[in-house]
Amino acid sequence: MSVLYKRVALIGLGLIAGSMAHAMRRAGLAGEIIGTARSADTRAVAAEIGLCDRVVDTAAEAVAGADLVVLAVPVGAMGRVAEGIAPHLASGTTVTDVGSVKKDVVDQVGPHLPEGIHFIPGHPLAGTEHSGPRSGFAELFQDRYTLLTPVSDSDPEAVARLRALWEGMGARVEEMDAEHHDLVLAVTSHTPHLIAYTMVGVADHLRRVTESEVIKYSAAGFRDFTRIAASDPTMWRDVFLSNKEATLDILGRFTEELFVLQRAIRMGDGDALFDYFTRTRAIRRGIIEAGQDTDAPNFGRNAAKKGSNDG
Ligand code: NAP
Repeated sequence: MSVLYKRVALIGLGLIAGSMAHAMRRAGLAGEIIGTARSADTRAVAAEIGLCDRVVDTAAEAVAGADLVVLAVPVGAMGRVAEGIAPHLASGTTVTDVGSVKKDVVDQVGPHLPEGIHFIPGHPLAGTEHSGPRSGFAELFQDRYTLLTPVSDSDPEAVARLRALWEGMGARVEEMDAEHHDLVLAVTSHTPHLIAYTMVGVADHLRRVTESEVIKYSAAGFRDFTRIAASDPTMWRDVFLSNKEATLDILGRFTEELFVLQRAIRMGDGDALFDYFTRTRAIRRGIIEAGQDTDAPNFGRNAAKKGSNDG
């Protein structure tokens, strides 16, 4: 594959940026990859493992001369990072991000970027519960979707090039409006994560009563919850704070449905439960048919390298 960007600057060197570095290298998509992270520790690890061609101390240094800048920090930090790099961006540079929420990132980042910058927000629907510069791997985005949410005046040629980069890293790419993205992700990722956090929290309370039984007898469903609930606390705090409206909307609907099921159990309404579970089973089949999961019974075990969470 041919080089799409002469110099890519990765701001933040965690799971997503690290995986991008590996995937871009594998496919020869970037002439040079420059990276930076907030802490000296992360920069040292990245330099030690050769994650990028060069690791520099500041975001301002990283973006100098770059034709693509990727903001790969927690959603709550995007605005501050954009403000810091803005004076150092060359005209014609594409700035993108990988944040799990889009409308809030557009609102935080957009106002800081000068004229002549192509701002194209993005979100790879791929992740694991691991974080940091050692956690990335080249296959993370393989056959997973990346959603781009171009703003109204995004240059079509710049969007096409960024799309080609993601496709070169193995992803399937679709475009949608930022607000719609946030609603879709509230259903498919954000609220399920909140439910997993809650369920593990409930079990934690129970554990105090039953000592080690919850761990000892943890069945597949619960183990999946614990894996999801091990996801990075900073990232997920920021996701809920910045996708507040859509998450609260979906949580409200979830609570209503829970009451419907609760009532069916209380009333002994087996038909209602059976019909409900038949409908949900069809959704699972649809996901497998769409190639977004397999029906192999691994119950989430050994899933980390497959990109099983999706932020
Ligand atoms: P990560 O592994 O925790 O890495 C985050 C990086 O951001 C680190 O290099 C960290 O630097 C830096 N950082 C943290 N706080 C910062 C701040 N306040 N200012 C500047 N830099 C800061 O995270 P990740 O999983 O790659 O996530 C990065 C982005 O991708 C997030 O916006 C997340 O929503 C999105 N995303 C994540 C997933 C997922 O499943 N993990 C999936 C899709 C999208 P230090 O190491 O020096 O602290």
